[in-house]
Amino acid sequence: MLTLTPLPAFEDNYIWVLHDDRHAVAVDPGDPAPLIAFLDAHRLRLTAVLITHHHRDHTGGIARLRQRYDCAIHAPANPRIPDVTHVLQGGDSLDIAEPELHFEVLATPGHTLDHISYVGHGNLFCGDTVFGCGCGKLFEGSPAMMAASLDAILALPDATRVCCAHEYTLSNIDFAKTIDGSNPALLERERADRALRAQDRPTLPSTLALEKATNPFLRFHEDDMRIFAARYLNRPPPGPTEVFGAIRAAKDAWDG
Ligand code: ZN
Ligand code: FE
Repeated sequence: MLTLTPLPAFEDNYIWVLHDDRHAVAVDPGDPAPLIAFLDAHRLRLTAVLITHHHRDHTGGIARLRQRYDCAIHAPANPRIPDVTHVLQGGDSLDIAEPELHFEVLATPGHTLDHISYVGHGNLFCGDTVFGCGCGKLFEGSPAMMAASLDAILALPDATRVCCAHEYTLSNIDFAKTIDGSNPALLERERADRALRAQDRPTLPSTLALEKATNPFLRFHEDDMRIFAARYLNRPPPGPTEVFGAIRAAKDAWDG
């Protein structure tokens, strides 16, 4: 039996932990402290760390964890990520013995060029690629790159649990309403997620089905979003990449 837990870290990060009551793996431990506290409280041994991309809020705990546990560090090729034991790229798969886990690696560049995501056991660990009702900022990649990454995620089963690295859902919903405010699934999600946050509970994991219904950044193939993009750009968007690019540009402007 596997248990999946999001551990809050910093202001709004989640460190995702999968464990079998004896051994644990952790995704993107930017801060070692909350992870070590959780592992101690549940008497778990950390066997592996999965890293999605090089940003410090995802990698900052690696050195301390390597001192404390004999854990493997799986990560994309990037000299800025310390102590990597297993370098991964899209198309790779990865096996862990304890807990017994198998993941497929998706290349998901866009937020950064090195960004990868991990798919296994019904979970998608997508780092800063998809957020609840949102997607990562394009710090290094192009809209075409991110649209292709999101297409790879859209091909996963609807029931996939979407495990994002930040709790940005309510603010993303506020933006989504400005471009998709008559979407009943979005309004229903807002009600449910506001209730969760009012109790200080995570809005995540969501499901891919919920993201497909409510997340404008995963709806760039749909007519509603194409119509929004045409209005935003003042011309018909030539294709889905431009629709995605218009939504991303509108969000960046809204963020200010
Ligand atoms: Zn990041
Ligand atoms: Fe981040």
